[in-house]
Amino acid sequence: MRFLREIIGHRPVIRTLLNTVASGRVAHAYLFTGPEGVGKETVALAFARALLCSRPVDGDACGLCRECRQVEHHNHPDLCVLQPDGNTIKIEQIRAILRRAPYRSYQGGRKIFLIPGAEAMTAEAANCLLKTLEEPPGDTLFILLSARPHALLPTVLSRCQRCTFQAIPAPELAAGLAALYGLTEEEAHLPALLSGGSMGKALACISGSTGDTRAEAGRLALSLGRAGPLEALELAEKTAESRDRALCLLEILICWYRDLLIWLESGETGFLYNPDQSEEIRREAGCYDARRLVEIIEAIGAAKNKIEANANTRLALEALFLRLAGLVATV
Ligand SMILES: [Zn+2]
Repeated sequence: MRFLREIIGHRPVIRTLLNTVASGRVAHAYLFTGPEGVGKETVALAFARALLCSRPVDGDACGLCRECRQVEHHNHPDLCVLQPDGNTIKIEQIRAILRRAPYRSYQGGRKIFLIPGAEAMTAEAANCLLKTLEEPPGDTLFILLSARPHALLPTVLSRCQRCTFQAIPAPELAAGLAALYGLTEEEAHLPALLSGGSMGKALACISGSTGDTRAEAGRLALSLGRAGPLEALELAEKTAESRDRALCLLEILICWYRDLLIWLESGETGFLYNPDQSEEIRREAGCYDARRLVEIIEAIGAAKNKIEANANTRLALEALFLRLAGLVATV
């Protein structure tokens, strides 16, 4: 679990939160908005720990007291994190966490309710929460997280103090990844670039290692080119197991096909994203023509956009992979 002072990027938000804890002037409800995977939940937990800490230092948690340890081990009785259950947050789930709201906190501090993906609340659930937001018990704090705040009820929005998270600039993200995970600048560069400023996606890219993910994308492209429909569906199912990783793979797949196009058009390997795979790229490029490669790149980009806009990952991948399947054999 991270301290506020350790968070990569988001300096304006972090500064505000540190000042909030240090001054003790805490609102009853916060809404953290910003792109998915950018670190809203990590920051929310760090903020909650700082607020619950019995000996905060300069607005941040001490990390040593009983409260800090309880938050770290996810067993602080006054911190309640709503767990997702299906695609919507139902009224029963909101009722269940609000049951604690009218009572005093167990440990004499605040009671904190953290609601990730708050836009998934049904209208009933949001109205139920609104009743408490309108007259919050004194020691109660809500932190709502949302990548799509426009989907929240205006009445809920107006009760929350808003903290806006921006995508983290690639150089800052790369430097942070290098420092936190002991990567070289070179290893951190590609995930930072591919992640679109999202820490979550960058981490999905380096889980295993970037080299592994690139190799996997290369293998996927080779298999797809020769796959029948059934095999394409199997590949889609396997790739869809993790949404973040699927998005990362699609991004790298675009680079792979772009490399084929670069080689086909220029015969140069100096501009390739995957210079270490230049041999496969040369071999494979001969199986496609440029027009088809452009279509493929566009189709992958469109599928990626759909998944990012919350389409079903598996369905989007199935449609895409069926389109890419068997292209090598037919050319
Ligand atoms: Zn502490």
